[in-house]
Amino acid sequence: MNADACNADLHCHSTFSDGLLTPAELVRRAHANGVDLLALTDHDEVGGLAEARAVADELGLKFINGVEISVSWGDDTTLHIIALNIDPGHPDLLAGLAQVRSGRDARAMQMSEELDKVGIHGAHQGALRYVGNPALVSRSHFARYIVEMGHAKDVKTVFEHWLAKGKPGYVAHSWATLAQALGWIRAAGGVAVLAHPGRYRLSNKELRRLLTEFRALGGEGIEVLSGSHSDEDTREFARYAREFGFLASRASDFHGPGESRIDLGKLPQLPDDLTPVWRKLL
Ligand code: AMP
Ligand code: MN
Ligand code: MN
Ligand code: MN
Repeated sequence: MNADACNADLHCHSTFSDGLLTPAELVRRAHANGVDLLALTDHDEVGGLAEARAVADELGLKFINGVEISVSWGDDTTLHIIALNIDPGHPDLLAGLAQVRSGRDARAMQMSEELDKVGIHGAHQGALRYVGNPALVSRSHFARYIVEMGHAKDVKTVFEHWLAKGKPGYVAHSWATLAQALGWIRAAGGVAVLAHPGRYRLSNKELRRLLTEFRALGGEGIEVLSGSHSDEDTREFARYAREFGFLASRASDFHGPGESRIDLGKLPQLPDDLTPVWRKLL
């Protein structure tokens, strides 16, 4: 395989976090879509990796162990850090992820109380019906319940009205620090990639501070191509990758059919002059 031309997709979600497909279904769909290098990156959870790898091996699809770690940075900014090629059994990583997951139940109860005040009732119980992994209730599960209740036409609209930062159902939360997340990734032998940098709504100055700090802590890559990037975001983050010397990733962030704009493997190619992060992985 020409390493640079491969159809890599290094970010997606299964029912072990907030995806709609099981790891096995996800890998089969990736294979059918022509993906030849796939990373499963559930939020704060590595429980789906063994099932995904077993199916990938059957299909002859190259598979990378991944996880997407929730991080709090600066003044209430939530960042997502993708860890690729980790040892999923490393004790520091497992303990760190368990700690990050442990705050989710209390947060869900608080979210439910806030939503109740604006007329959305029974949201916690409702969200739990969409949860595949009891340890991991996320805003996506709330959003699916709120759509089911007829309050909004789709998940995206639910975030815009209720769940995004500043909206009535948003509850600030302390995740891992950036230094902790990078420490766990390093300990587990992984490569750290900043997920969807176009989503954080940071000023240029804050963004430069983040990229500088991330690189100083051992961060090696950024998602240039992402299911949540516009063409302008892609051009912007290609420029940042060049300037900061980051490896570039290609990442659908697929959560499920009908819910995600970009399907597994259906992204454009990276600009030729960037170094793909998978050169380090193959
Ligand atoms: P949580 O980890 O519980 O804060 O949930 C974060 C997840 O919510 C993300 O990984 C996305 O899957 C989803 N999400 C966040 N913002 C949006 C949005 N604007 N539209 C759709 N989904 C979103
Ligand atoms: Mn998600
Ligand atoms: Mn994310
Ligand atoms: Mn994601």
